[in-house]
Amino acid sequence: NFQPKHLLVTGGAGFIGSNFVHYWLQEYPDSQVTVLDALTYAGNLQNLETIQKNNAYSFVHGDILDTALVEKLLHDACIDTIVHFAAESHVDRSIHGPDAFLKTNIEGTHSLLKAAKKIWLDTGKTPHRFHHVSTDEVYGTLTPDAPAFTEQHQYLPNSPYAASKASSDHIVRSYHHTYGLNTTISNCSNNYGPYHFPEKLIPLIIVNCLEGKPLPIYGDGKQIRDWLYVEDHCRGIERILLNGRVGEVYNIGGNNEWTNIDIVTLICEQMDQHHPQGAPHTQLITHVTDRLGHDRRYAIDATKIMGELGYKPAESFKTGIRKTIQWYLDNEVWWRGILDGSYKEWIDKNYSDKKTLSS
Ligand code: NAD
Repeated sequence: NFQPKHLLVTGGAGFIGSNFVHYWLQEYPDSQVTVLDALTYAGNLQNLETIQKNNAYSFVHGDILDTALVEKLLHDACIDTIVHFAAESHVDRSIHGPDAFLKTNIEGTHSLLKAAKKIWLDTGKTPHRFHHVSTDEVYGTLTPDAPAFTEQHQYLPNSPYAASKASSDHIVRSYHHTYGLNTTISNCSNNYGPYHFPEKLIPLIIVNCLEGKPLPIYGDGKQIRDWLYVEDHCRGIERILLNGRVGEVYNIGGNNEWTNIDIVTLICEQMDQHHPQGAPHTQLITHVTDRLGHDRRYAIDATKIMGELGYKPAESFKTGIRKTIQWYLDNEVWWRGILDGSYKEWIDKNYSDKKTLSS
């Protein structure tokens, strides 16, 4: 069993990374967490505001492409575990501008691996763990009745985002097989929950319902995704860090397939109860031109992590959606800050160069 003592969480100011940091510090208050984040449009320090004063947490504003910075962090802070979330993550953005995706997701991952090899392996420091957070999108798309993706499924990425994540998975794998770095990889289904940037489907629909704006649905809305509450993703990563076998890949999912149109309808029904606006929210649904090369279906077979590591998601979809809606109702300042760009102004003013926010 591996027990991480000091974690470097890349992309910890993003959606899943920040949820992971909250989860980890709650479960392991005696460990240390250093967040490394470049604070791109998707990174938001307000996601970490409630732990700002926690002595177990520190923040470094920096880029994963800066290998020297990562080496220094690994060395000076005696970090034994990297949990690598940092990425360009939005498929639509990857269609319009793939370069940033290849740079951050492929070269950025390699930069971290090089630093880990140098500090952990070349200087003989063990034990250590490099956990790479990846996606089910590397497997491509499924026909309606095909079996869900297992870890043995062929990699067939269709979008520049998925292709960049697939490449990074292969490079991580190669650092285990070639150099003996203790790596693990998780490929997870779509996440939803608190701190989800309102460009993604579920928060976009919630926020637009709250604002009485149109609810855009790509094409016929029959695309199928497998959804997992973000804290259940964090639990899966926890299980892999503690008990996963190095060199292995684990799928994480909750056996929870939904069409986009059914999700939007479910959110509308819950919004009718929690935030009635007179007419049913479904009247706001608007079909828009489908995304280029849009995958029809993703579905994760999580048998391996469930059987081997005793993993089980805690949240059902209906209660998870209810909690998520409640979170957006309670945190209007957070999402309004994103919509009007005020949090970005604050970051630009306070983080014009690299500095550490000590707690
Ligand atoms: P996100 O876009 O919300 O957050 C990404 C974070 O990475 C941001 O804080 C951003 O500032 C930071 N970042 C980007 N480029 C950086 C760089 N060069 N250096 C340092 N930091 C940088 O993404 P997310 O949805 O939280 O996803 C996190 C990870 O999980 C990604 O690797 C993604 O591929 C993977 N994943 C996401 C989902 C999902 O449903 N969102 C599902 C499976 C896997």
